[in-house]
Amino acid sequence: MVQVKAIKAFSDNYIWCLTTDNSNQAWVVDPGQSEPVLTYLAQHNLTLGGILITHHHYDHTDGVTALVDAYSGISVYGPANSPFKGVTHPLNDGQSISVLNTNFTILATPGHTLDHICYTNAELAFTGDTLFSAGCGRLFEGTSEQMWHSFNKLRALPASCKVYCTHEYTQANLTFAKAVEPRNPELLAYSKKIDELRINNQISLPTSIGQELKINPFMRSDLPTMTEQVPKEFILLTKNNEPWENFASLRMFKDNF
Ligand SMILES: [Zn+2]
Repeated sequence: MVQVKAIKAFSDNYIWCLTTDNSNQAWVVDPGQSEPVLTYLAQHNLTLGGILITHHHYDHTDGVTALVDAYSGISVYGPANSPFKGVTHPLNDGQSISVLNTNFTILATPGHTLDHICYTNAELAFTGDTLFSAGCGRLFEGTSEQMWHSFNKLRALPASCKVYCTHEYTQANLTFAKAVEPRNPELLAYSKKIDELRINNQISLPTSIGQELKINPFMRSDLPTMTEQVPKEFILLTKNNEPWENFASLRMFKDNF
């Protein structure tokens, strides 16, 4: 059974560290910095077995070179279509990989970037900058329609599947989510819980697919009521009651929130 721990990086990034009980090998997800990883590995008597990359942004990849130098021969898994050149094992949608004897299925999730992938199984999902707790990544390269399609892949995971995203954005995302659904009781309760965690400087993650389906406006874009609070200027004029159109309106509202 894989255990997942957070290594803090930059101001609000988490580099997820995967380990098991029966070995001293660790894998890390999206090491934007090498120093915090090297320190964590030394402190916990771990050796690095490999790296998983979700997309090319510097805050997910800048630590890779130094880590590969420190642990030569390790594998770097990442998207096949990535502008990031440090990938040794290029991955495509639907492919399966084994990390620490645990299988992960690769989901191509374009939207935030065109190369974005998520590493998923029934229990764990590493969602990078695609799905955040109560939010979603900005659309730097893809379209709302693409991102909604990507979200649908994540929505299909089991409700109990734990979600590990890269940033501690939960509290800010919840402020927006409450503007979209001011009377969602699950959302209000979750927001209270997260406020208590954050006031004590505790991490708000992981979340779960089931939790996000109850409180994340972007995961709930298929509900016709989701745009009731969205200002008119962000409602698509071509609106045809497609879920991705609600998603697009919510994303525009958030970009201007
Ligand atoms: Zn990013």
